[in-house]
Amino acid sequence: MKCLQDLTFEEIEELVVSLGQPKFRAGQLYDLQMRHKEYDEATNLPKTLIDGIKADYFATSLKIIERLVGKDGTEKYLYALNDGNVIEGVFMPHRYGNTLCVSTQVGCRMGCAFCASGLGGLIRNLTAGEIIGQVLCVNKLHGGTPKDRAITNVVLMGSGEPLDNYDEVTKFLRLLSAEKGINISLRNVSLSTSGLVPKIKELANSNLPVVLTISLHAATDEKRSALMPVNKAYPIKELIDSAKYYFDKTRRRVIFEYALVEGKNSDKKSADELARLLKGFPCHVNLINLNYVKEKGLRGIKGNYIKEFIDNLNKQGISATLRHSMGNDIDGACGQLRVKYLAEHDNVNRGADED
Ligand code: SAH
Ligand code: SF4
Repeated sequence: MKCLQDLTFEEIEELVVSLGQPKFRAGQLYDLQMRHKEYDEATNLPKTLIDGIKADYFATSLKIIERLVGKDGTEKYLYALNDGNVIEGVFMPHRYGNTLCVSTQVGCRMGCAFCASGLGGLIRNLTAGEIIGQVLCVNKLHGGTPKDRAITNVVLMGSGEPLDNYDEVTKFLRLLSAEKGINISLRNVSLSTSGLVPKIKELANSNLPVVLTISLHAATDEKRSALMPVNKAYPIKELIDSAKYYFDKTRRRVIFEYALVEGKNSDKKSADELARLLKGFPCHVNLINLNYVKEKGLRGIKGNYIKEFIDNLNKQGISATLRHSMGNDIDGACGQLRVKYLAEHDNVNRGADED
């Protein structure tokens, strides 16, 4: 069964016309979609239209099944998709607006050594409707409407590798920034990737100028390949070249994510390697201390060494700051909430176990 939230305004118009209904009904259906409403909440639509659509289309792509609220206002959600799969998301309030972190796949196949999202491999891609559904659902939860948004910023940093689901993710970006819809500007959207080089170039050429965030985590091929298997296919030189290409095309400063991992990438030599790699490229490094993932056994580093690492980069002319991980009281890293949920609910599709 399909879902209304996967459709653009024009596709909804076609659907309405194919059912013999007047075109203006498309606006009403689109409004239903953007407000994340179920059919029984639609008071202004004729029953004949709803009955014509209901058999083939879900009104919404997902529902929140668990909501955790942290002391700092951060919220974490588990959503159930219509096929019973479960994904997670994070809401972060800021002075300038509210950010929602969205997932793009159920699981992930990139196999990074420190990440809980990839533990069960990739189960399936999300559709564009399931990605925008996360935004529309949380916007509604916080009292927002399409015109008066409770979500102002979106980061594609939940589970999944966005560029491994390129077609649905780019459709999502078009749905998200459509003027008639929730209309979130792409300058307020960050897409984080483990570094699928050909797709970074394709995105640069796509006229969807999001902020590109690259999960770098190490500045030599040896260290990076040990943490991120994707580096064997697309080594650092190619990755940095694609980042430069992205910058040249979009003029958006690229952000590099760097999680500090004890014994792997956090000594002075690693900081020097990173500074050498990025010197002269207009970019920013977001450091984060690794969240401990019990299944992976890797750890972050002690507080005073983080400051040393940053000072060392700054001294060498690299813009770098520590990203505070929010909502620490409600759970740890990306993907952990879902892993915990799956462990407690055996009936949910969990994919292959890690070997
Ligand atoms: N697949 C994409 C986006 C989702 S992961 C990517 O890898 O970029 C979002 C971010 O969380 C990435 O920067 C990833 O490296 C980071 N991450 C994953 N596990 C982590 C952990 N245990 N501690 C800190 N950051 C982590
Ligand atoms: Fe996938 Fe990103 Fe996790 Fe790597 S860090 S396994 S690419 S979600």
